[in-house]
Amino acid sequence: MKVSIIYDNEVWQPGLEAAWGFSCLVEVDGRRLLFDTGGQGTTLLKNMQILNLDPKSISEIFISHGHWDHLGGLADLLRLNPDVRVYLPESCPRPKDAQGVISVQGPLEISENLFSTGELPDEEQSLVVKTSTGLAVICGCSHPGVGTILKTASRFGRVAALIGGLHGFQDYALLADLELICPCHCTQHQAEIMARYPETAIKGGAGRVIEIG
Ligand SMILES: [Zn+2]
Ligand SMILES: [Zn+2]
Repeated sequence: MKVSIIYDNEVWQPGLEAAWGFSCLVEVDGRRLLFDTGGQGTTLLKNMQILNLDPKSISEIFISHGHWDHLGGLADLLRLNPDVRVYLPESCPRPKDAQGVISVQGPLEISENLFSTGELPDEEQSLVVKTSTGLAVICGCSHPGVGTILKTASRFGRVAALIGGLHGFQDYALLADLELICPCHCTQHQAEIMARYPETAIKGGAGRVIEIG
């Protein structure tokens, strides 16, 4: 499975635009799922174009939570791909242009190797991807808490990787068993995580591609 960061607070690949927010493309099971949509449609679509990513090739969109920096690009994307399926936490207000909305409450199987943790406290869901080397968990801001997210994801197997925004997270020992950590977007204590886990923690940024399994 492959994760390509499209939208992030920082840039990895020169030429891409950085802006506050998060979005990444997850390719698994022959699907192209877009996790979150960043804060602005213009930046999202511009970065997608530079990365040679056709908005119409996206089969589904997974929205972690209703904050603007994750939902902001959705309307522009729906204009180009109106029939795309959108997985939305149940408490999140429905975007008016979305046609195929799937309201997520409990844990959910999206495809053979793709799952949602279900809506956790603070109205956020995380994406769980089964790979040959363990589970990869992708999170938006981690408002429910990294401990809660990892614990909930464990119902699907052993968590090996964590990618996304770790807002306010400081309970570093929780990451000890992971093989890959990519703390990006709103992570305030990125430097501490990198220093504590120099072998497993990597930087994120728009344009970064991570292949697992
Ligand atoms: Zn955020
Ligand atoms: Zn948030």
